[in-house]
Amino acid sequence: MILNEFDIKELAGWLRKSGESPFRARQIFKWLWQKGESDPLSFTDLPMALREKLTSQFEIGRVKVVEAFRSGDGSVKFLIELLDGEKVESVFIPEADRKTVCVSSQVGCPLRCAFCATGLMGFTRNLKAWEIAGQVLVIRKHLGLERVTNVVFMGMGEPFLNTEETLRAVRILNEPWGLGIGARKITLSTVGIITGIRKLLAFDKQVKLALSLHTAIQEKREKLVPIARQYPVSALKEALIDYYERTRRRITVEYVHLPEINDTDEDVEALGEFLNGMKAKINLIPFNPHPKLPFRPPAEDEVKAFLEKLYRLPHAVTLRKSKGRDVRGACGQLAIERI
Ligand code: SAH
Repeated sequence: MILNEFDIKELAGWLRKSGESPFRARQIFKWLWQKGESDPLSFTDLPMALREKLTSQFEIGRVKVVEAFRSGDGSVKFLIELLDGEKVESVFIPEADRKTVCVSSQVGCPLRCAFCATGLMGFTRNLKAWEIAGQVLVIRKHLGLERVTNVVFMGMGEPFLNTEETLRAVRILNEPWGLGIGARKITLSTVGIITGIRKLLAFDKQVKLALSLHTAIQEKREKLVPIARQYPVSALKEALIDYYERTRRRITVEYVHLPEINDTDEDVEALGEFLNGMKAKINLIPFNPHPKLPFRPPAEDEVKAFLEKLYRLPHAVTLRKSKGRDVRGACGQLAIERI
């Protein structure tokens, strides 16, 4: 059995049943997640008998770095192997004031958005919470960082098709016995799975929500993001208004710029309509090309022209400077090539 598959309450329960003090759970989790220690025998503040019991009854689940690709811009793309040999990618993105890790929540992705490379590899399985949080831990260790300041769930997969494990991972990332990353520095990015947005409302941590919208015109969105058939733009808007009214938190809207496709006046108008009633930040992401994807990246003047139109909306607008393009570590470029 894998020790870190337990959450802290479950571990306390196991300790109680084994005749140990449940308060040891916190100590054990500090070793596992704060210090990143993998050998229970070195958990020096536990009685030796308990250390031995842990060693004989459990395995400690760790993910491992198999390759690191350093980009010229300072970001690093990691190929990470899971216990069953499956692989995911995670990206480290350093900036002046933050050190962000972009994690994967699934091996592959079932959504098949028209412009995203991850969809091309299909879906294999969901990640466990410890495999998601483990990506941050292993990258922190690999790079010898004192701390990671931000985590974004923008790697492979759709976090809200794996909501329970995603929220468990957020807990590990946030708790003081875990990686101690502030909840507001953790961003969950979704294609718009409404059930997940609702579950997030019931979650007790103030994480940030990002929505990958790409267009607010229903027919067009269905072509770009097939799951839009199941979660139409109108229902999505309702869910987000509800989210905004209950939390008063600003929502980030990610918008991949596909020139001549989703940058028309009609798109801008529909976007304005969609965001009416909530506070949002529009994050424009120029399409990152991939040889197997049938789109072209926008030219600089196209990005500028689109930005000018977006600036007319009563919302903050930012341009994402994609990092790691040279190592295919930028948004939408994560895909494991299988032989
Ligand atoms: N499934 C979630 C999490 C993945 S986030 C979601 O869709 O939000 C990855 C982000 O990169 C999403 O906003 C996605 O739309 C964007 N993206 C995908 N392919 C891209 C590409 N080729 N160029 C730029 N951004 C892309």
